[in-house]
Amino acid sequence: MITAIVYSEKYLKHELGTGHPECPERLEAIVEALKRSGLWESPDVNVIDPAPATRADIEMAHDTEYVALVEKLGKSERSLDGDTPVHKNTFELALLAAGGAITAGRAVLSGKASNAFALVRPPGHHAGRSHGGGFCYFNNIAVMIERLKREFKLKRIFVLDFDAHHGNGTQDIFYQDPSVLYMSLHQDGRTLYPGSGFTDELGAGDGEGYNVNVPLPPESGDAEYASVMRELFVPLTKAFKPELIAVSAGFDALAEDPLTRLGLTTLAYGWLMRHVVEQAKSLCGGRVVLTLEGGYALKPLASATVNVVKALVGRGQEPPSESRSLPVVDELRKRLASYWKI
Ligand code: ZN
Repeated sequence: MITAIVYSEKYLKHELGTGHPECPERLEAIVEALKRSGLWESPDVNVIDPAPATRADIEMAHDTEYVALVEKLGKSERSLDGDTPVHKNTFELALLAAGGAITAGRAVLSGKASNAFALVRPPGHHAGRSHGGGFCYFNNIAVMIERLKREFKLKRIFVLDFDAHHGNGTQDIFYQDPSVLYMSLHQDGRTLYPGSGFTDELGAGDGEGYNVNVPLPPESGDAEYASVMRELFVPLTKAFKPELIAVSAGFDALAEDPLTRLGLTTLAYGWLMRHVVEQAKSLCGGRVVLTLEGGYALKPLASATVNVVKALVGRGQEPPSESRSLPVVDELRKRLASYWKI
């Protein structure tokens, strides 16, 4: 069992400005902690270089005009939104981030690795078909999925997004697509950017029933996540029967995170990932691909990432045996009953 880690020092060149939380130090802290834990050099871990995505890859998930806009804004150093400046090297680095996700996905689907983690910057899950923002330019996980769907003839991909913010971009790209079941756990949009991600956003057209939002009230922590994983993630994956589980791995649901108000522990990320790895083993030959999204408290971000990689190599923590019954879980089980036997 090999875990591939996709990483390049070029990802450190993406700089958004002094004091910006989405800083190169995030990746430096992660890589340093993985090296200190021995995982980086471990025989069951392969660190591989990303190949950049092509413009054609990006245009599988984004409109041509939007891709041209990002390129153009970079030339004049303008911004997508107040927090998302586009510098001269941004376009190229955003191609390398999406390419990193594709590299990770290819490693898994070609059988070179059982699972893979793309440690990339910039993140992607706020980038929709024709818009960016929230530190995101191109949607790395969506570009990866669209590319792999064509290359490996995939018909069913489950996306779990546990970044503390709703992945409005990923939802936008796959909203009408029944080949991708998008499930997001996030802090309630009434209390956090981007203000979307409610339980009644269930998908549209052929994709109706394939978009599942689990908004959690501020201060939710390990017990709430355990309940969502056990009562929604496990039965939904079982019903959907994915050929691949893709994860938007954001670490800003940690209690220490400066941008959000959730309360996950670093250990929780380990058992959360163990749930994913076990579901993948029983449903799709263990195939899991992660792409890094947010997470802004450097030390806890690094330890939680180490726990996630431990779970990927099969040394994960047991999930807790008790969980709390949650109103949002009950509500979603009712809503989803018309689409899924869960
Ligand atoms: Zn986030």
